[in-house]
Amino acid sequence: MPYDSNNIFAKILRGEIPCKKIYEDEFALAFHDIHPQAPVHILVIPKGPYISKDDFIATASDEEIAGYERGIGKVLQASGLMSEGYRLISNNGVNGGQEVPHYHVHILGGRELGPMLKQ
Ligand code: AMP
Repeated sequence: MPYDSNNIFAKILRGEIPCKKIYEDEFALAFHDIHPQAPVHILVIPKGPYISKDDFIATASDEEIAGYERGIGKVLQASGLMSEGYRLISNNGVNGGQEVPHYHVHILGGRELGPMLKQ
């Protein structure tokens, strides 16, 4: 399946629709999720056109992968979540429940998040 350049995060990256930006560098963009599931709910996306985690790690350059991971680190550092803890989630494909086909990580925190999966 090819990358769909009309997905909503691609539009955010092109500046065609707004986002509540938290952090941006050459490799990563972080913004608040429009439907927060916790007091803190941040999305971090790589700048390149990658569909999923497996696509990203198979096809992105080492520089992009390192840059994206460091970007997540900077967002975490700035979030104030470190002392009380947080959760990272990445939904991939149909069984993962992925809605937006541009690879992203959710950062969730600000309350006890309960079990990892819905029971
Ligand atoms: P996923 O199921 O992992 O693909 O999650 C996609 C996430 O993107 C959901 O949590 C949505 O609330 C969020 N989302 C969708 N559109 C926007 C938008 N325009 N700005 C911010 N977050 C969005």
